[in-house]
Amino acid sequence: MTAVSEFDSELHRTAIAQLDAVAARLALDVDIHERLRHPRRALVVSIPVLMESGHTSMFTGYRVHHSTALGPTKGGLRYDEGVTLGEVSALAMLMTWKCALMGLPYGGAKGGVRCAPRSMTAREREHLTRRYTTEIMLMIGPDIDIPAPDLGTDEQTMAWIMDTYSMTQGRSVPGVVTGKPLIVGGSAGRREATGRGIVYALYEAAKMLGLTLRGQPVVVQGFGNVGGVAARMLWNDGCVIAGISDYQGAIWNPRGIDVPRLEIHHQETGSVVGLPGTEPLSNAQLLEQPCTVLIPAAVGSQIHAGNAERIKATIVAEGANGPTTPEADLMLRERGVTVIPDILANAGGVVVSYFEWVQGLQQYFWNEPEIISRLQELMVRAFARVWTAAEKNGVDLRTAALMEGVRRVADAHAVRGLYP
Ligand code: NAD
Repeated sequence: MTAVSEFDSELHRTAIAQLDAVAARLALDVDIHERLRHPRRALVVSIPVLMESGHTSMFTGYRVHHSTALGPTKGGLRYDEGVTLGEVSALAMLMTWKCALMGLPYGGAKGGVRCAPRSMTAREREHLTRRYTTEIMLMIGPDIDIPAPDLGTDEQTMAWIMDTYSMTQGRSVPGVVTGKPLIVGGSAGRREATGRGIVYALYEAAKMLGLTLRGQPVVVQGFGNVGGVAARMLWNDGCVIAGISDYQGAIWNPRGIDVPRLEIHHQETGSVVGLPGTEPLSNAQLLEQPCTVLIPAAVGSQIHAGNAERIKATIVAEGANGPTTPEADLMLRERGVTVIPDILANAGGVVVSYFEWVQGLQQYFWNEPEIISRLQELMVRAFARVWTAAEKNGVDLRTAALMEGVRRVADAHAVRGLYP
């Protein structure tokens, strides 16, 4: 089995290496294993956008469905300059394992547009989103594939997708996306769901390791939807948020950063950098600072062979997708660092997206305490299953989580058979 060149990227190599290692452990049927290495379908689109300058810029966008064995596909939409077909395909594959691990009736998908969202105006982003939606129209729908927010996209992006899709159908179709604003059928607690899920997973890990998180130093890379919420919740719980970063750089204060003050500073300046009372660091330096918990919650491949030796955290909770390369993963394991893998740690987002989808289909909405308690129940149960499987098989948490996810998808393939 050779790597397929059109998918070539660091993250895709990571995803394939993880699948291959787990397939060997599961003694997976070789034909099913080969099918799982490839996305079911991938669409590449060109998106012309009339910019404020009066000129038209061309952007490239992707939507990839990795597996439909367990149901319609589900996965985020990413706006970032680093987006490639390989990255999107790898993220779609990770979504397949994540949904299967959490017991959700979905296969994995992902979308992305190669662009610099922060240097575009809101009008340009809206036009980009609406044209992208039109170009991928055949690939999405409440029973086909349901996008959600990811890096560089948010509730507003989802509202534009829903509106564009609905216009072509002649009726409102809220179920085509999740992570929508509440007023158009969003779910209570969706915005905080990924960060909240990380915190639940962290508490479970700490319990198993005999650690009390209160008072412990925490470092968070990324102050967006995922990192910002996790930092705020851990701060509320009395953790010492010693370092935080965003795309512009990092800030450090071992006595603790006042997160509510940082939120105001971030709102006013657009960055965490420059918060009074903190020392500036680079993103690379931040990851290597002494702390009990490290939460990479920005982009992929941040912990790699070049820095894994210097990571000092006891627990790494992967908020981002694919933040650790396979080489670094091995090095962290050898040094006894507990890594809560992405497909478990950041699964809270897709869990509450699932709740949003179900609520939308039934037109019956739950209140926030219900959402939070069901999310907690699913996260705690999944963590326990993964921890027990890791102990039983003598493997790390990532391998155990992947084994469970991959096994479920492989079982569905086996029972469905190969069409035609
Ligand atoms: P976001 O756009 O809301 O925030 C991203 C944060 O990372 C921002 O603070 C940004 O400044 C920072 N950042 C961007 N590039 C960076 C770089 N090169 N170095 C350091 N910081 C950088 O995105 P998000 O929704 O918080 O997603 C963050 C990660 O979490 C992504 O990997 C995403 O795939 C993953 N994730 C998100 C969700 C979700 O529900 N939003 C769910 C699961 C996983």
